[in-house]
Amino acid sequence: MSTALEEALIAEITADGPLPLDRFMRRALFDPAHGYYTTSEPFGVAGDFITAPEISQMFGELLGLWAADMWQRMGAPENIVLAEIGPGRGTLMADALRAIRRAAPQMLATGTVCLVEASPRLQAVQAERLAGHQISFADRVGKLPDGPLLLIGNELLDALPIRQITMQDGELKERCVGVSDGRLVFVDEPLVFEAPEDMPVLKDAETFEVSEEGRRLVEAIGTRLAVQGGAALFIDYGHGETAAGDTLQAVRRHAFHPILADIGSADLTAHVDFAAMARAAIHGGAKAFGPISQRDLLRRLGVEPRLAQLVAKADPPTRDALVGAYHRLTDPDRMGTLFKALCLTSPNMDTPTAYVPDDAFQP
Ligand code: SAH
Repeated sequence: MSTALEEALIAEITADGPLPLDRFMRRALFDPAHGYYTTSEPFGVAGDFITAPEISQMFGELLGLWAADMWQRMGAPENIVLAEIGPGRGTLMADALRAIRRAAPQMLATGTVCLVEASPRLQAVQAERLAGHQISFADRVGKLPDGPLLLIGNELLDALPIRQITMQDGELKERCVGVSDGRLVFVDEPLVFEAPEDMPVLKDAETFEVSEEGRRLVEAIGTRLAVQGGAALFIDYGHGETAAGDTLQAVRRHAFHPILADIGSADLTAHVDFAAMARAAIHGGAKAFGPISQRDLLRRLGVEPRLAQLVAKADPPTRDALVGAYHRLTDPDRMGTLFKALCLTSPNMDTPTAYVPDDAFQP
């Protein structure tokens, strides 16, 4: 059975021709009436996928402590803007605010908290989750209040639309979504946009993914950090070096799903090209560090002492759950190494919290 969005796309593509993947992804995820993030409840055991902040309170707490420490290092400015982009259910920020309130109450007393969320429905979920906190919303980064910024984004970049360039019989093509026999199919179309300079030489049948939206967003954040000061931390799954690879995937009910089926009711993501993101930020005027593994990030932020503290107060079932969550977040064969953390800072800042000078990104 096809969804309403699928029917609409089939009609549009039949009339106007194949859609590049970024336009397809934008419709699938953010179509006002039928998009995935605009209409369904993706998070948690009952949803489609589980993210780090939903696995354990330790994740958001440690990122809150990262922000509090960065704020101190910045000289504790009074007008700090603490922001999160793509906050999902608001769990990360709720845990972070609790930790900051203990570690650096003055930061919250004098600063402002802002959530950047593109889905109006999720803004409402986040407002409810964070009721009792003074929070403002923006639908894009350009609308954040002025001031030095500390920005966190977990699993945001993987949700940004990509385009795919593929080598077919010695010719570069763009993979698009077309229609055949009344159904959506992948088709390779002539390449009508300029391939990015950092694209490697592709062998036959290899694919290169580029998120123009991701590059633009991160470059704009880099410029904002250079002009107004601050830092940004992006955590996601992806690769540290720019390379060929087809990583577009759909996930529904905790399993991979065919990309062109159930459009609008499955999540669509692609692995993040962290090197491309780092270069975009540097191009915008910022410094970049990492990416380091999620395992290193959490260990350097003190996940083990925090685990020990929580375990000491817990009953046996809770203890097992805490230890299980710790392994899930940090073990190399779970989320520990596939997930990585890229930090961007204003150019006048020293090495950021959780990083060492050797982590400086080498373009
Ligand atoms: N950070 C959360 C949710 C990750 S899902 C967690 O870890 O659980 C991706 C989130 O990013 C959703 O909230 C989605 O609506 C939001 N999002 C996607 N593209 C966005 C954009 N361009 N600007 C702001 N938010 C966006």
